[in-house]
Amino acid sequence: MLKIHPIPAFKDNYIWVIHNENYAAVIDPGTAHPVIDYLQYEKLQLVAILITHHHNDHTGGIINLLNKFNVPVYGPHNESIPTLSHHVKENDEINLEALSLTLKVLETPGHTTDHIVYYGVNKIKMLFCGDTLFACGCGRLFEGTAQQMVNSLKKLSNLPDETMVYCTHEYTLENVRFARTVEPGNLTLQELEATAKELRKQNIPTLPTTISKENATNPFLRCDQPEVIQGACKHLGQTLSEPTHIFSTLREWKNNF
Ligand SMILES: [Zn+2]
Repeated sequence: MLKIHPIPAFKDNYIWVIHNENYAAVIDPGTAHPVIDYLQYEKLQLVAILITHHHNDHTGGIINLLNKFNVPVYGPHNESIPTLSHHVKENDEINLEALSLTLKVLETPGHTTDHIVYYGVNKIKMLFCGDTLFACGCGRLFEGTAQQMVNSLKKLSNLPDETMVYCTHEYTLENVRFARTVEPGNLTLQELEATAKELRKQNIPTLPTTISKENATNPFLRCDQPEVIQGACKHLGQTLSEPTHIFSTLREWKNNF
């Protein structure tokens, strides 16, 4: 049985480790030390490093991990990512034999142009989505266009409902506060806020989320919903109908929220 464990790092990052009793793979190690500590404590041998995009809080630990473990590093083609051994692209499959897990690569440009995510099935369906999708939110558009991000998010929202979603940041509570402003009548958001508050009070991660929860609460996946459209139009003071325009309006609004 696989375990998927969050290692808190920096202010609000999670470095996810997928492991069984003996072997582990790590996603987006922005720093190495807490990962090495966890692997030692659990007596695990690292078998792979997977990277979603080039930002340093996702890649900063690669070199120190490689000094300790000689393992493949998978990631998108980007010269600024140190020591990738395997460049992967849409629909590539990464077979992590030691974990009996195959992860499929999906390209999700928007937050950065190189962004990819990893989707796998092993008893549960799992998605490691870096900074593309957050619980009740999405990544900022640093490099890509709104249209690219809308397409990327659509790809993720079409994954099976029960898919567990492992995001890289603990942003849930502030995202819910924004989402409730956009869509005050969404009762599922009120429940989510209460649950997330309780978890954070005990310092427990609000993640993973699921695709079905995101489809029900995340305004960035709900740009076709009447109340979200109405919220965006009211904020902008003009009538919009195109989902990409609704998305851009929400993204700008959230940037300054
Ligand atoms: Zn990032």
